[in-house]
Amino acid sequence: MALALGIDLGGTKIEIIALAASGEVLLRRRRPSPRGSYAATLEAIRALVQEAESELGAAGTVGFGTPGAISPASGLLKNSNSTWLNGRPLDRDLADLLQRPIALANDADCLALSEATDGAAAGAASVFAVILGTGVGGGLAIHGRVLAGPNAIAGEWGHNPLPWPAPAELPGAPCYCGLSGCIETWLSGPGLARDYRDATGSARDGPAIVAAAAEGEAAAEAALLRYEDRLARGLATVINLLDPETIVLGGGVSNLERLYASVPARWQRYVFSDTVRTRLLPPRHGDSSGVRGAAWLGRSRALAPPRPA
Ligand SMILES: [Zn+2]
Repeated sequence: MALALGIDLGGTKIEIIALAASGEVLLRRRRPSPRGSYAATLEAIRALVQEAESELGAAGTVGFGTPGAISPASGLLKNSNSTWLNGRPLDRDLADLLQRPIALANDADCLALSEATDGAAAGAASVFAVILGTGVGGGLAIHGRVLAGPNAIAGEWGHNPLPWPAPAELPGAPCYCGLSGCIETWLSGPGLARDYRDATGSARDGPAIVAAAAEGEAAAEAALLRYEDRLARGLATVINLLDPETIVLGGGVSNLERLYASVPARWQRYVFSDTVRTRLLPPRHGDSSGVRGAAWLGRSRALAPPRPA
């Protein structure tokens, strides 16, 4: 079966892509997420797959990327900010709905797999992918495969504490996970906006802060410099632990081009090594990378031998 379908289950949209074995995009569709309704979400997925397969005249393998993960303990989705999907046996329901085996992984895992397969990190033995957006996620692809651990949380660095905190950074803002000062509270888009507001008393979102810095506003530039140093600290701990060949950034904040020079210039100070050869790269496939990774995930799962029960 050469057709690889990937579906990205986002909080605001559901996107489907159909890839040929070469990676060529055969079809792409988006529709708004039916927010709040699990049944309507399943129905939207069923319709997207049916339309794609009838238009292309072939059946495909199907992989899904979603925030959160299936809990190995309960078999139910956890940690998704599309909260209407949490507590549901999403992978089993999708396999029943589409009447075939499916694969499902965290959206950051899909980003890592996409860029490791035919993207910015193609050929790299180890890739850490980061999503810097509404939240902060991470995933790992090792030798072209998603690293899946017993807790389904590999790469979830967003809820580690901010490393080497300055006194002014303690205890940090409360996080929805129940702790305070998590990396996500500093490095998400809303985290950048909060830091700027705390320093200036005025409210601006991430893109407005970036624009103000480009126009020479000192407070906005200072906020970006703090952000870059925090990102360098956060990634330095990942490099110390895993020493990945390549780190790829995704999510809205990853569009900030200066990060790819400024963060490696700063992480040298924190990494326990005389040289740091780690590459920090933007995603070659841009906003489409996650959905492409979902398609590759579905294909690789279909090709893999069945796992013993
Ligand atoms: Zn947290």
